[in-house]
Amino acid sequence: MDYQKLANLLFPEIDKTPADWEAAFPERELPEGAMVTRLGPSPTGFIHLGNLYGALVDERLAHQSGGTFYLRIEDTDDKRYVEGAVDIITSSLDFFDIHFDEGAELEDRGYGPYYQSLRGEIYQSFAKSLVEQGLAYPCFLTEEEIAKIREEQEAAKETTGIYGSYARDRDLSLEEIEANIAAGKSYVVRLRSGGNKEADGSVKYIHVEDAIRGTLSMPANELDVIILKATGIPTYHFAHVVDDHLMRTTHVVRGEEWLMSLPIHIELFEKLGFEPPTYCHTAVLMKLDDETGNKRKLSKRKDPELSLDYYRSEGYHPLAVREYLMTILNSNFEEWRMENPDTPLEEFPFSMAKMSSAGVLFDLNKLNDISKDVLLKIPADELAQFMKDWAKTYRPELLPLFTDDEGSRYGTGYLEKILDLGRSGNKPRKDLVCGSQIFSFISYFYDEYFRIEEAVPENVTDEDAQEILRRYLETYDHSDDQSAWFDKIRAIATDLGYAAKPKDFKKHPDEYKGHVGHVSTVIRLAVMGRSQSPDVWEIQQILGEERTRERVSLLIM
Ligand code: GLU
Repeated sequence: MDYQKLANLLFPEIDKTPADWEAAFPERELPEGAMVTRLGPSPTGFIHLGNLYGALVDERLAHQSGGTFYLRIEDTDDKRYVEGAVDIITSSLDFFDIHFDEGAELEDRGYGPYYQSLRGEIYQSFAKSLVEQGLAYPCFLTEEEIAKIREEQEAAKETTGIYGSYARDRDLSLEEIEANIAAGKSYVVRLRSGGNKEADGSVKYIHVEDAIRGTLSMPANELDVIILKATGIPTYHFAHVVDDHLMRTTHVVRGEEWLMSLPIHIELFEKLGFEPPTYCHTAVLMKLDDETGNKRKLSKRKDPELSLDYYRSEGYHPLAVREYLMTILNSNFEEWRMENPDTPLEEFPFSMAKMSSAGVLFDLNKLNDISKDVLLKIPADELAQFMKDWAKTYRPELLPLFTDDEGSRYGTGYLEKILDLGRSGNKPRKDLVCGSQIFSFISYFYDEYFRIEEAVPENVTDEDAQEILRRYLETYDHSDDQSAWFDKIRAIATDLGYAAKPKDFKKHPDEYKGHVGHVSTVIRLAVMGRSQSPDVWEIQQILGEERTRERVSLLIM
């Protein structure tokens, strides 16, 4: 067979050779040890936690080593293209402070285009070169024929696919191929696999060093996989091999669902004469199922927390999410964080060897806990700005409440003061998690949202509650310091037959109606609408005298 002739027949318009492309995309000039990583999402418009998890690995590896992190859009499957998807990807990752150095819709540092759909000529050149070497061939099998082969293989319990004797068109003559093409038959281009048998008939194994999983030993590929579809568009297998080589990727971080096709990729690298990158197959994100209590994969349908949009709309701070992801990415991160409580995350020596290769458990409660710590370290003014930014997109109705404009209803710095409440001292409050939760926590500060949410304690009668509020209002002096203020509450309590100290009440329950805590709960309910809140005196100082008096009077009949 004259392979050169075949190659020209299949690719008459391709005159560039692999050598031309090698020259067009030279090795990158980077410091020794610098890693080049990429994110290769399909433009489906859905970006999920798994993407973020992988992207953080890519980003850390590249930027920790002085390398490059780029965005390549894997859009060869045009059915999945969603308008605006690239923007969704970059803006979502930007939000989490993960930035690309180059790529689609970003700077081209000489390795673009970064859309696979624009790289057709490149893939064709490499496919042509494989055909010229007899390493790829056109295959005219129809879908029906392939389905039939599959049935036979399944019945005989054999590996399914086109390989060995099932690869009917491997050895078509040039004349047969010409005749098929002239007859308008559609064809794909397949790799001519070297098979996976050793000379003695035993199965041939490949050994690949995965940076996360160590040495992987797997049977070599034997499938004549499709490299170009009937449309001339490459498959993922072929496109990623060509691209990762020409874009000079050093580390391919991708989900473990790709492990199975690794032998195909290794054979493609070999046949194309490229050095394979270091593969890093990350573990799947799992969660404990609420109902069964078993570990299972996060699901798009069942788990809203799989979507990155969830974190943005709930108002999670990007730092909290990054910090949490790092705890599930590297087993030694939490220990490092304890030893280095104030060091920026970027200084943590991220390592692939410390990544888990078994399903990683994603736990929203743990994220929430970490978020509490992270938010505590963010100064109140920054946190207030974060709340405003979040509200702008997700809760615009709150913006008028948060504004610091001259003449705004609550005055300047109101939100900041609220957020700063109880954060100092040796037992700072640690209960702020995310925007939506923070707002429901602090909503009583805003008259529009203030409601009485709970009933007075059982041991306080309605008459007593009225009397407590009446006396509170009468004796209220906004300029009282905290202890003067509390002394007054204590006086009201003892006057009305409540113990001045909870422990007195506990000791002699028959002698009192209740204790000072019950009395102050009545006040708390009047001012905040709820029985759980930070320090009442401090809250009143923020609310201001007028608002405090107004709320108490409103409840007095
Ligand atoms: N386009 C593939 C995906 O969306 C990327 C896999 C890879 O990173 O190689 O899953």
